[in-house]
Amino acid sequence: MNLDDYGEKRNFLSTNEPADNAASKEDKDKDLNSELSFVVQKHYASRLHYDFRLELDGVLKSWAVPKGPSVNPLEKRLAVMVEDHPLEYKDFQGVISEGNYGAGEVLIWDKGTYYALGASEKNRSTEIIRDGLGKGHITFILNGNKLKGEFTLIRLKKSDLKNWLLVKKRDEFAGSNNILD
Ligand code: MN
Repeated sequence: MNLDDYGEKRNFLSTNEPADNAASKEDKDKDLNSELSFVVQKHYASRLHYDFRLELDGVLKSWAVPKGPSVNPLEKRLAVMVEDHPLEYKDFQGVISEGNYGAGEVLIWDKGTYYALGASEKNRSTEIIRDGLGKGHITFILNGNKLKGEFTLIRLKKSDLKNWLLVKKRDEFAGSNNILD
């Protein structure tokens, strides 16, 4: 968990994104929040995608989802793991100007809280998610405006280790409707 890759890709004199040292302030705040955060940002980069981010240990674990999340359990969405982002990135939206990494508009598409399946308490959730990320399989409950209920992220074997699948599990929030806008 560190923000070296995040910092190396960006020039903070040029981009309006949060700096890679933002975590120091967030560290002080994070223990005050009793729930873990998630955010999905719609990113009009050279190729449109949705960035799916889960708070863990003071950073945002991040995946780029080219087709965006689905609430249909039959639609498995490729989610490419990218560099950890500072926690305060969950509040970022705006236009990353030309010439910068990821240039284009970023909109907060959904945000809310999450916990690991079977562990609503924050510290226990953190342990389960941290362990699951190492093993390549996490299951969690989202409480957002658009995304709700149980989802899973599964790392694909026999391929690039960055490639995961984001899949809705069957529950009362699953459906066949297209939720992307
Ligand atoms: Mn992106």
